[in-house]
Amino acid sequence: MPTLTSAKKSPRPAARVHGRPAPELIFGDLWAYDPAPETADPKLKPRYELFIGGKFVAPASGKYFDSINPANEQKIAEMALGGAADVEAAYRAAQKAQETVWGKMPGKERAKYLFRIARLLQDRAREFAVAETMDNGKPIKETRDFDVPMAAAHFFYHAGWADKLEYVAPGRKVAPLGVVGQVIPWNFPLLMLSWKIAPAIAMGNCVVIKPATNTPLTAVKLAEIFQDAGLPPGVVNIITGPGSTGGLLMAHPTAAKIAFTGSTEVGKVIMRSVAGTEKRMTMELGGKAANIVFDDAPLDQAVEGIINGIFFNQGQVCCAGSRLLVQESVADRVVAKLKNRLRTLRVGDPLDKNTDVGAIVSRDQLATIQGYLDIGVKEGCKMWQPAGRLPTKGFYLPPTIFTGVTQSHRIAREEIFGPVLAIITFRTVEEAVEKANNTPYGLSAGVWTDKGSRILKMSTELKAGVVWANTFNKFDPASPFGGYKESGFGREGGRQGLLDYCQLA
Ligand code: NAD
Repeated sequence: MPTLTSAKKSPRPAARVHGRPAPELIFGDLWAYDPAPETADPKLKPRYELFIGGKFVAPASGKYFDSINPANEQKIAEMALGGAADVEAAYRAAQKAQETVWGKMPGKERAKYLFRIARLLQDRAREFAVAETMDNGKPIKETRDFDVPMAAAHFFYHAGWADKLEYVAPGRKVAPLGVVGQVIPWNFPLLMLSWKIAPAIAMGNCVVIKPATNTPLTAVKLAEIFQDAGLPPGVVNIITGPGSTGGLLMAHPTAAKIAFTGSTEVGKVIMRSVAGTEKRMTMELGGKAANIVFDDAPLDQAVEGIINGIFFNQGQVCCAGSRLLVQESVADRVVAKLKNRLRTLRVGDPLDKNTDVGAIVSRDQLATIQGYLDIGVKEGCKMWQPAGRLPTKGFYLPPTIFTGVTQSHRIAREEIFGPVLAIITFRTVEEAVEKANNTPYGLSAGVWTDKGSRILKMSTELKAGVVWANTFNKFDPASPFGGYKESGFGREGGRQGLLDYCQLA
């Protein structure tokens, strides 16, 4: 999370964001509020259609649903509600593109399209950042500095692979799988699209993909880029709609492979629905990561890492460091430093460039998180939030920490998917490993220590797909990402991610 700049006390001007008054802030009374609204135009249309066979088409049902800005509860646009007939049409278009164009195209030709997509996304980066922030509620500094550049980076990275695919599995023949069906969640809408689409099409597969119901906007905007890049019709098809449409998409017989990112609960439903078929499958599911701080760690740095680990994207991150395991001898110091730092975080209008914690994605998600706060208090944990006011409209929650947490508490065991940190203490290295691994999940972990040998020991013993050392939430397209246990199977990113999109002979 970027560092805060200090703001001078000044009268509060009536800020306007896209023609409307900026929502009221502010949190952390230490800081005066100098609004810095982002002004780039997100170039929104009142209505968005499905993207099938290279064209924007109305849904067969004629039905639309509203996409809502969680920061102010206002409607952004109407989105097409895709159903069975549209899923069918999308798979037909994808199959045709697979057989007639994309599957046969030399990798070096496919690469040109991926490069073009990456460049066009860079050209429209600010517009996409604003659109993503409006649709999801995440702070503009995150969409501007992380989501959009990382999405472009995934297309660049996979463009680089497209003419070197023989090195994905040296000595083996590598071929596309065919048409793949993909469903993604709402927490990183554009980034998850690029994680899914870029490796699939670089490998020569065609795609039918459904974005999350809450955050379809940047998916259909990305379709505009596919058109501008001249991507052959049918290579990528985008169906917006509810979870039931995702079910149709995953079960479709044309899909040679399905790739799902979302909750463990829905992942299990999908796995049951395709059991016994020949479909290949990868699952990126939930997490409950331990961020482990030893007493020899640089504590100020660790506190920044704890904050980044759980308050980045309002904690709505599969690999969020939602359990802080802190060595008993430094626990009081770490908690005191953490509270001081949390008092400085700005919670409020996501379109303000100084906002650190934006809006929760939806009213339902906010209610789920608040339910967990009640559970934590009822089970006897001690809750703390920095003092401050929240905007009156929109779905906001202050950064929240719980102390006095043990492994049996539900807030320590279940994925909350919000800005809520459960703090647990430990005494020995062995106890830290035991507590960190005591979860059905295994997506990520963080270790903070001055000792290199301890980092090596911990990264060997922690059952997590990614282990960060003296940092947290660092991503790179070259670095594979994925889970152990109920966090899923398969990898995204790097050579390993491409292996999950090819047929080996
Ligand atoms: P979700 O499981 O509710 O929904 C994910 C997607 O599945 C959405 O597009 C939804 O419309 C669709 N869907 C819902 N029911 C379906 C069904 N029966 N069949 C097919 N599709 C269906 O998850 P969410 O609330 O959107 O996202 C949060 C979850 O995603 C968290 O659990 C988080 O940990 C996980 N996640 C995991 C990763 C990872 O890489 N492991 C990354 C991001 C998010």
